[in-house]
Amino acid sequence: MSGVLSELTITRSNWLEYRDPETTREVVVAGVPIGGVHPVVIAGPCAVESYEQTLSAARAVAAAGGRLLRGGAFKPRTSPYSFQGLGSEGLEILRAVSRETGLGVVTEVQDPRLVERVAETADMLQVGSRSMQNFPLLVEAGRAGRPILLKRGFSATLDEWLCAAEYLAREGCLDIVLCERGVRRSAYWNEARSELDLDVIGPARRATPLPVIGDPSHATGDWRRVEAASLEALRAGAHGLLIEVLPPSMERADLRCDPLQGVSADTLQRIMDFARDFRVPEPRGDGAIAAGADS
Ligand code: PEP
Ligand code: MN
Repeated sequence: MSGVLSELTITRSNWLEYRDPETTREVVVAGVPIGGVHPVVIAGPCAVESYEQTLSAARAVAAAGGRLLRGGAFKPRTSPYSFQGLGSEGLEILRAVSRETGLGVVTEVQDPRLVERVAETADMLQVGSRSMQNFPLLVEAGRAGRPILLKRGFSATLDEWLCAAEYLAREGCLDIVLCERGVRRSAYWNEARSELDLDVIGPARRATPLPVIGDPSHATGDWRRVEAASLEALRAGAHGLLIEVLPPSMERADLRCDPLQGVSADTLQRIMDFARDFRVPEPRGDGAIAAGADS
């Protein structure tokens, strides 16, 4: 184990109740435990674009058996000219849709100054891939009193990811779910932006008792590949999935954010059915943690 990892309080060696056997800390989000034997699917649109669009996606999620809705009100966009999300109006929409459907809300916070405001709506705060090493954000998010979904930076090492989790833990937040969302590929067009790094799921689970989920949507960037990637992530030991859904009321071409990766309601249903009957396996590999991870 690398020097950095061994010092973290979130490693198994420092959290004796989870060391032996290798149990996982259950993180409860809006009454839904993440980290148990059954995988949890968090699903919804990429961005909150309107009440109707969000409700349409949320109804598909609820109909498929989901209990947690994802959707960004504040969106991290590469170009400053792209749709940035509806902001506070998006939060209001999420609250209304949550009331209407009973789904818990998972939504991203990017700005340390907005943590409190986003936390009023979110049952779980998402810290996105680009924000994984925004340390002031991690400090504020760790103080918010909400569980946190911490996505791995798309080129972050396991050490860097866990150190980011440690920033949250130092502020008193131990209800952290790690999310592998794919690593950057050299062919940078939409459908091939990233690749799901299945090999990090086992080491992350062995290094810490925190639940680890996979995001096959951003990892593939292609709705046609999301189902296969979902099953692979679960077989690799993920405790759940974060999935983008095409709202049934919308045409793909009319979406303002990540139009190519949302799965149809039918595909979501198949993934959910698979997840419901699946038991999270022991993490893959022999227990050796990321050789050469010292940094
Ligand atoms: C998202 O899940 O909405 C998102 C922007 O993902 P990532 O941070 O992984 O790119
Ligand atoms: Mn997206």
